Amino acid sequence: MTQALPVVPNFINGKQRAADKAELLTKYNPSTGEPMASVPLSTMKEVDEAVKAAQQAQAGWAATPIKERVQVFFRYKRLMEERMKELSDLVHEENGKTYAESVAEVEKTIELTEFACSMPQLAAGELLEVSKGVECRINRYPVGVVACITPFNFPNMVPNWTIPNAIVLGNAMILKPSELVPFSSIRIAELLKEAGLPDGIFNVVNGGQAAVEAICDHPGIHALTFVGSTKVAKIVYQRATSHYKRALCLGGAKNHLIVLPDAHEEMTASNVAASMSGCAGQRCMAASAMVGVGKIDHIIEKLCNEARKIVPGKNLGAVISKQAKERIERYITEAGQQGAKILVDGRGAVVAGKENGFYVGPTVIDHVRPDMKIAREEVFGPVLSIMRTETVEEAIQIENANPYGNAASVFTQSGGIARYVAEHASAGMIGVNIGVPVPREPFSFGGWNESKFGAGDITGKSSIEFFTKPKKTTVKWNPEARRNWMS
Ligand code: NAD
Repeated sequence: MTQALPVVPNFINGKQRAADKAELLTKYNPSTGEPMASVPLSTMKEVDEAVKAAQQAQAGWAATPIKERVQVFFRYKRLMEERMKELSDLVHEENGKTYAESVAEVEKTIELTEFACSMPQLAAGELLEVSKGVECRINRYPVGVVACITPFNFPNMVPNWTIPNAIVLGNAMILKPSELVPFSSIRIAELLKEAGLPDGIFNVVNGGQAAVEAICDHPGIHALTFVGSTKVAKIVYQRATSHYKRALCLGGAKNHLIVLPDAHEEMTASNVAASMSGCAGQRCMAASAMVGVGKIDHIIEKLCNEARKIVPGKNLGAVISKQAKERIERYITEAGQQGAKILVDGRGAVVAGKENGFYVGPTVIDHVRPDMKIAREEVFGPVLSIMRTETVEEAIQIENANPYGNAASVFTQSGGIARYVAEHASAGMIGVNIGVPVPREPFSFGGWNESKFGAGDITGKSSIEFFTKPKKTTVKWNPEARRNWMS
């Protein structure tokens, strides 16, 4: 008889809670293909339970001075530093990325938390004497109960794009993590509790579509952030805003790297290879398309050499599922059938001792045409499609024609060309000689076009706008009766 898998709990009102009668989904270890646990597909019942707990706790939390609230996050940061190995192991196990990539992910969470710890300074409000004896002030109030729906690719970092900022600003939160990576979220909840966060302020409800729909529909939730594919981002944005919620929904990506013949060979080759293969290409900031302008064969040759040094199971992690592996390999096969040239082929990768793991090796495909499916769609695997043009203007046209707009990079030693690309690329995050142009705190994260729906960015100062309501108070202390407040 096979042993029953442990069922992942929800975390509601400071305690682990089973989702009664919920349908269960098997969670597999991407590196080995072995089943790890069952994930409950929670419904409105569990979401409602979490909302009630959050509502009860939120008023007291909002009434706690921000300088006290932030102390929880100073402790949270210290706990993460102390538990770095445990938290990174968890990311590695559930997501399949390498241990080094998992450490980098938790380190980024720590940086995000550091930013939140500066909130008392950033959200101090504004005050001005607008006419003689009359003051206008702005105070920021929390939105109330907010929700955060996250994808599988960064189980620790993406939830923490919003957790520290939203909670420091006085909100209570419900996190619905990806059902493909349910473990880190529960650990985050436990660490926050250990750091002194009152019960009910942070809750985790596991599940899939039904839980997300319940979050969109629940009248007790006032704002939500979503990170995931564009298809679902659009559905969630429409559904949440139709219930008059504030929503910010980040979607998929197809990031272009424009490479000029004068680019530094070694640096470009290693940067592009790392960008397309890091986290097995499952990053919304991954280089997916490269546009080579003019004679760049010397760079492509070096790039292929770099790609061959990236070995599945060693310095390349697994992709998330068997279905993802099959989908990525299908894109490569179709590109080959349509006349593209596969220079480095990662199909059929097998890791000794982990034969059932979901691995795809690094793949470089040259002479891809902009109309091919692999050039237009998000592949989300360690695959780079190379297109060729004669001019930078043509390269920009290809980049601009893509519906996404998360990131774009240029590799050149010419300041003029770099500036031209930075100005004309239609993307929210630009790199010059940088393959993964993720802005570091305090600069905010967010794309353009079909990579983001809603105003503002998800991190940085934008989060203050998103997670608070400004109250404007005008006060007259001028005793002269004949003066009105405008004088
Ligand atoms: P996904 O869209 O499949 O899932 C994201 C979340 O939506 C999950 O929590 C999932 O349970 C839920 N969901 C799935 N289908 C749903 C439906 N029909 N209705 C309601 N909810 C649903 O995304 P994923 O595969 O987990 O993550 C990969 C995607 O996320 C890629 O497209 C990637 O580019 C994107 N991503 C974007 C960013 C960004 O900053 N723009 C960051 C990370 C990942």
